[in-house]
Amino acid sequence: MERARPLVDRRRLLKGAALAAVPYALLPDARAGAEPQAVDFPAAEWQPATTYNYTVADRPTAHPVDHVIIHVTQETYAQTLAIFQNPQKKVSAHYLVRSADGHVAQCVREADIAWHAGNWDNNTRSIGIEHEGWVDRPAYFTDALYERSARLTAAICATYAIPKDRAHIIGHYEVPGTDHTDPGPNWDWARYIRLVNFA
Ligand SMILES: [Zn+2]
Repeated sequence: MERARPLVDRRRLLKGAALAAVPYALLPDARAGAEPQAVDFPAAEWQPATTYNYTVADRPTAHPVDHVIIHVTQETYAQTLAIFQNPQKKVSAHYLVRSADGHVAQCVREADIAWHAGNWDNNTRSIGIEHEGWVDRPAYFTDALYERSARLTAAICATYAIPKDRAHIIGHYEVPGTDHTDPGPNWDWARYIRLVNFA
């Protein structure tokens, strides 16, 4: 989770202002309208973040996607979805994995830039995955959460030719300049990377 104030995205503001005068049906790209099957990962459920909480882009065309950032929410699954849907929060991630059963929600399309790393350069080049739980409550890191998340990360790595290693699958705490500690010392990195490689 990242609550830091994002950079003001002037391009998005300008685009939003320009679009206000255009009938919706005439827009060339109406996918912001929450199509039910808009997921990039087939097993995911589409639970869109508000468009105020991410930057529309056309990755990997304009920005290469070269790493995955692992987060822990410090909130419940339901509360995290509510935060992503709240325009005041200015935060989002591409995916959210539920603790109890590993259910995956997709909240931002992979082509778009989610606001999760607290660092614009990392945001532009990464896919962010939130995991329901708390850094000091290891019971939230269930077998189902590890396994389903690893399948998701493996699929992302395959799509963008990202090596399945710790140099390219990093924790939020490893993002330059961050003061966040997630996923924390209870996250089993060796197990996770092994699962990603054998998913
Ligand atoms: Zn985080």
